[in-house]
Amino acid sequence: MSILQNAIDSIAVGLEDYSSPDQRRVISCTRNVFAGILLLFKHKLSLLSPPGSDEALIKQRVLPVLDESAHLEWKGKGSKTVDVQGIKERFESLNIDVDWKRIDKINSFRNDIEHYFSNLKHEAIRSLISDSFVIINDFIRKHLNEDPKELLGDSPWAVLIEVNEVYEKEKAECFAALRALEFFDDEILSAFEGYSCDECGSGLIMPSIREGEATSANYTCKSCGKTLPYEEMVSEAVTDYFSHEVYLSHTDGGDSPLADCPECGGIYLYAKGICASCEHTAEHVCQGCGSTIMPEELFAEPFCGYCAHVMSKDD
Ligand SMILES: [Zn+2]
Ligand SMILES: [Zn+2]
Ligand SMILES: [Zn+2]
Repeated sequence: MSILQNAIDSIAVGLEDYSSPDQRRVISCTRNVFAGILLLFKHKLSLLSPPGSDEALIKQRVLPVLDESAHLEWKGKGSKTVDVQGIKERFESLNIDVDWKRIDKINSFRNDIEHYFSNLKHEAIRSLISDSFVIINDFIRKHLNEDPKELLGDSPWAVLIEVNEVYEKEKAECFAALRALEFFDDEILSAFEGYSCDECGSGLIMPSIREGEATSANYTCKSCGKTLPYEEMVSEAVTDYFSHEVYLSHTDGGDSPLADCPECGGIYLYAKGICASCEHTAEHVCQGCGSTIMPEELFAEPFCGYCAHVMSKDD
């Protein structure tokens, strides 16, 4: 069977899993849909592989060989095909643009659903299907020059469209409710909008009030019902939101964007100079020596770590 037919079948089976009332098929849904997306990508790589190259572009190993006239050619070797990272590198080098951020989101969600989420609900995978819809629709139109409805068939296509519409509508309602609240800083709102429930993975988080201060609300996951007060929600959401930058600050050096708030012990947005938990604005310049107080020294505010240390010795 061709790679393309495998891709179509895998997506169709995944969407049948989704439509089944059997909760146990949630995992096979995520596996099949993601596998189908990767197969669509491999189909594109196989189309671009030169004839006689043993589908070089989809093989993990590609070796140089000389033909009869001593021309260098590249041939695929063995049966192992490229993994996600390999597809990403080849697409980048071939200028095939796909939304890798969204694909990574689908992939980590798929992984989390198998390993971490304890509260598996059918509704929770709507965000994965909705993201998959965006990728599949875009890729088939743009890079395969086909009509996705014709390629996938009417009923799988109808499921994709419907899930996407319902999810987008609910997400818009959640976002509107969040935006109606007053946040200490816009970045906190962005963190709330980007947050996915750590219990079930759903991105549909609804506040308990429709106006006033964000700190006064509780936040409920519409899929599994898990509810968090502001203090917990803000620390989870902001930590997730900045996780990549915090990681970079550890690996590449530079300041962490986050610190412990010297006032409340909550989560302090260092670059913004404001606490996301209690709105405290800390002194960032040492009153002793005039140097910048680094994120990890903020507890000693209004002094830097060094001045605070010297003063503690003087006592
Ligand atoms: Zn949830
Ligand atoms: Zn604080
Ligand atoms: Zn100082």
